[in-house]
Parts: sequence; C-alpha cells; structure tokens
Amino acid sequence: MAQYYIDYPQEEDGKMHSYRCKHCKLNTLVINGLLENHEPHCAYRMEQEVALHQAMLSGQNNKIGLGGVDEAD
Ligand SMILES: [Zn+2]
Repeated sequence: MAQYYIDYPQEEDGKMHSYRCKHCKLNTLVINGLLENHEPHCAYRMEQEVALHQAMLSGQNNKIGLGGVDEAD
C-alpha cells in the first residue's frame, strides 16, 4: 500500500527532461514517487513524515508498527 509523493519541489537536473528534488537533489527517477527514496535529511521528506506521523497518531487507534524507528533524541 505505497503512497506516492509527487508534489515535492523540483528543479532541472542540468540534463534534458531530467529533474531532481529541490531539497535533497536526488533525481526524480531515483525518488520514483516514494518518500523513503528521498535523502533522510531532505526537508520535504521530513515535513511529510511529521505530517504522516501526526495523522497516524490522531487517526488510528490500532497499534502503530513502526518497528525500529526510534526517536533520535
Ligand atoms: Zn528530497
């Protein structure tokens, strides 16, 4: 059940018909619409992950299996 994220800011990659994420500079073909394919420090990814996390906390009562994802601090 993958959710696709294609609304991230993009910029030209310097090549024809080639674009990359404006934040983490990864090519759109590498990202392939998946949030997890952005760099971990990508501002867009972090923003979306926070929103996703909040949605999970407020919208679901079932256990959230984030296995392995610990708070960094
Ligand atoms: Zn990115």
